[in-house]
Amino acid sequence: MFDLIVKGGTLPDGRVADIGISGDRIAAVEPRLEGEARETVDATGDLVSPPFVDPHFHMDATLSYGIPRVNGSGTLLEGIALWGELKGVMTHEAVRDRALAYCDWAVSMGLLAIRSHVDTCDDRLLGVEALLEVRDIVRPYLDLQLVAFPQDGLFRDPAAWDNTVRALDLGVDVVGGIPHFERTMADGARSVTALCELAAERGLPVDMHCDETDDPMSRHIETLAYETQRLGLQGRVAGSHLTSMHSMDNYYVSKLIPLIAEAGVAAIPNPLINIMLQGRHDSFPKRRGLTRVKEMQAAGIAVGWGQDCVRDPWYPLGTADMLDVAFMGLHVAQMSHPEEMRRCFDMVTETNAAIIGLEGYGLAPGCTASLVVLDAGDPVEALRLRATRLAVVSKGKLVARTPRADAALDLPGRPGGMRRRHRAGS
Ligand SMILES: [Zn+2]
Repeated sequence: MFDLIVKGGTLPDGRVADIGISGDRIAAVEPRLEGEARETVDATGDLVSPPFVDPHFHMDATLSYGIPRVNGSGTLLEGIALWGELKGVMTHEAVRDRALAYCDWAVSMGLLAIRSHVDTCDDRLLGVEALLEVRDIVRPYLDLQLVAFPQDGLFRDPAAWDNTVRALDLGVDVVGGIPHFERTMADGARSVTALCELAAERGLPVDMHCDETDDPMSRHIETLAYETQRLGLQGRVAGSHLTSMHSMDNYYVSKLIPLIAEAGVAAIPNPLINIMLQGRHDSFPKRRGLTRVKEMQAAGIAVGWGQDCVRDPWYPLGTADMLDVAFMGLHVAQMSHPEEMRRCFDMVTETNAAIIGLEGYGLAPGCTASLVVLDAGDPVEALRLRATRLAVVSKGKLVARTPRADAALDLPGRPGGMRRRHRAGS
């Protein structure tokens, strides 16, 4: 007797299978399960995937768009200034309630694990305490990891070091940083070294905002990869954004990419936000603001798409939909080959889960019973349609359902309704 069976769905690898769930674990994945179940979800003809994972977000800022004003220039720097204004009027309850509302959006979109940065440049640590509370509240249905993020610069803000250490003492999971925001390149490099040493001492992962600029001389990813190797942090370090790589000299990059690969540093580009923020100082030609995704993947580097922002000082849109993120990334990185499109789907599921070290992830027996049923025939179709999440199961419980969005038509000689499915060659 299973608690729940998801019947007849198509898995990302193309197999058609029933998934039997007992408690919070997947108990069986078979072409046809004969056992009884307390509850059944019919997924015949639909895609069943492990849940979406977002490896880069800012939950202390989300859903604050327009408070106290909007970002007029659309730049990263005005966003940071605006965030400073918002911090002055923020309350614990407001941050907590906005974060919880965003987690509701996330669950409805099958996004069940999020790594969120939290600003530690605040003597009150108000955002840190609010998000630690949120992490506990959502734990039964959403895995939230927190990164200690000295937004105003580890050395640029005189209190940042102490407050970042205090945040880690309170239970924040990951060490973050923002070397390109320090006053000099030398300070940026020093901040990378200091933060990697802090992570090594405490046995924590590192996830650093790195080179989120159009300046090709912003090369802090080099220091991050070097320190990862020097301190033996291989496999637990990520560089987020890395946008300056789009404008770096090709010879330099031919040395840099093998260094990142050897160091086992993962890359987290955030295509929605960076296609919006970067290139704002360019006239024409105007740069795309995305790092070298395919080139890093070809070198064996783990690259996962992140969302970064939803309705906050930096980005006015967003719906917690990781398929939107992958869809934008696919376009900006020109990943149009069927294998590349498929990889974009994997990037927002399996690759992101591996980058943030999520345990028990997948659709095999013994894995955590979390999955999403999508109104699509396969992963690439899910991307094309940004498919409706028909059902979301988290840790064994059915937590969200959304009706299918078929259109009804009234046209002479045409069918009365349709679903925008399409198979190549048909
Ligand atoms: Zn960010």
